[in-house]
Amino acid sequence: MTLASQLLTWYYENARDLPWRQNNDAYKVWVSEIMLQQTRVEAVKNYYTRWMERFPTLDTLARSSEQEVLTYWQGLGYYSRARNLLLGVREVCARYDGKVPDNAAEILRLPGVGEYTAGAIASIAYNRPVPAVDGNVLRIFSRLFCIEDDITKQGTKRKIHGLIQNCMPKEQPGNFNQALMDLGSAICIPGHPRCSLCPLTKYCEAYAREVQDVLPVRPPRKQPLHVTLASGIVKNGESLLVRQRPSTGLLAKMWEFPSIELEKNSAPSAMLPALIKADLAQEIVLGQKLFHCIHTFSHRKWDITFFDCRWLDGGALPPFARWLPISEITSLPWAGPHLKAAAALFK
Ligand code: SF4
Repeated sequence: MTLASQLLTWYYENARDLPWRQNNDAYKVWVSEIMLQQTRVEAVKNYYTRWMERFPTLDTLARSSEQEVLTYWQGLGYYSRARNLLLGVREVCARYDGKVPDNAAEILRLPGVGEYTAGAIASIAYNRPVPAVDGNVLRIFSRLFCIEDDITKQGTKRKIHGLIQNCMPKEQPGNFNQALMDLGSAICIPGHPRCSLCPLTKYCEAYAREVQDVLPVRPPRKQPLHVTLASGIVKNGESLLVRQRPSTGLLAKMWEFPSIELEKNSAPSAMLPALIKADLAQEIVLGQKLFHCIHTFSHRKWDITFFDCRWLDGGALPPFARWLPISEITSLPWAGPHLKAAAALFK
């Protein structure tokens, strides 16, 4: 038995029952793979189901507004994924008559689609023998072939890609890729793999040499940059002052309460009212702390405190800000920690 047939036999008996595996429609595979980037399977399940109720076809999504799409993505983070997905399906409508191309090279040219996603769509939806190599698969193959080079290096990735290509069966390449995903999530996990449950022990060099716990090799992770922010909850009657973030950069175009990054050891008491006055033409008095949270992105950590702000007076708001009725609080795509604050303070 080859490594591939051993893995497929295991997969047919142990495949996870996931909502996006009900059929191999290319649009559905695409959505699920984009949602699963940087996000756990359990967290994606409900988002995926809700998404497919609202955007059941590629065409429905392509005709939807970016704001609505972002609202349905809210909570998954990394919002550029949703924006690119929307651009991608619109491009498929414009250039491919609404049908996702059936080969990895063309899929790869769509916005937001990297090699992993192109391989996953091409293999699962169209049975093309293309590897879908993510961190899980790199880990599995670095152990199977006992690769002691840094797996974050392009050269190592290329080497592993070649090894996977050699192992990949012509029949059922999509199932082979999905089997690797399942093996990486349940058995060949980071740290201490569950080798006693693994169908591939007899092929695994790391297991034979008892070095599986120290593979793969990767450089130490950098700590995310710690950023302290103060944010104002400005209430005017039954409305809240909110603003939209710039159209590029972190959390682009998402909505938030007016906020400011604080210098080390500086107090928000002068800076936050001054910011709200300068940017939004509103006079406020800073009140007590209402809510605090820490929100970690890949490269930075926001330590953000929300303050009650008493509104005194103000002129017309700039185009990127508005008074949001509290009853409409769920209608906006919120920047992550601001959603936490809005949910905690105005359930
Ligand atoms: S034997 Fe252990 S280290 Fe090797 S592939 Fe299986 S789970 Fe991973």
